[in-house]
Amino acid sequence: MIQGFELGFGNRDRWRWSAASDDTYTVKKMCSIMEQQVFAHITDSDGILRNHFLPKKIEIFAWRVIKRKMPVRSELDKRGIDLHSVRCPLCDDDVESIEHCFIFCKSSMEIWERVHNWWGLGAFTNLSLNEILRGNTAAYTTCEGKLIWQAIEWVCAYFIWKNRNNKVFHGKSWCSPVALNEIQIKSFEWISVRAKKKKLD
Ligand SMILES: [Zn+2]
Repeated sequence: MIQGFELGFGNRDRWRWSAASDDTYTVKKMCSIMEQQVFAHITDSDGILRNHFLPKKIEIFAWRVIKRKMPVRSELDKRGIDLHSVRCPLCDDDVESIEHCFIFCKSSMEIWERVHNWWGLGAFTNLSLNEILRGNTAAYTTCEGKLIWQAIEWVCAYFIWKNRNNKVFHGKSWCSPVALNEIQIKSFEWISVRAKKKKLD
């Protein structure tokens, strides 16, 4: 449409970006507008689903899991995508549903159990993905304590998904002690830079 178009009248014509009040485009402004749009939709029936101890990509990931918007095989199949199998790529014991992938798969259960042991919570018995991702699986007296535990659970779910994709796309997956190690390192890194003055060990 703009091919051959010439700006005229002594350069009084110029390009303007109507999304910003001063008409100038910057990547920073674009990112901020996109984030506002994305986070305006990150809510569920209990209200806004946010955890400020984690990067935004993990918040978006947790929201997608709760909203069942993850491309596990059963969800792809429901949307008419032709797959050679809908069974779990890790264990092959069952159909790969969201619940199977994130909780009931043997390898996922082992990772949750290790995370629960690490936090001294005993056996992993809560089998509701929604309760897990809302941080309702342990009793905390402070709001911050609950948010940190929720952050750990989101990081755990994130690494379960990463582990699954490593297997699907690269043919290898972690054993649960290695997965726990990754979860510990990454959650420490993410939470400690956002916890500001609090010293975490
Ligand atoms: Zn499985």
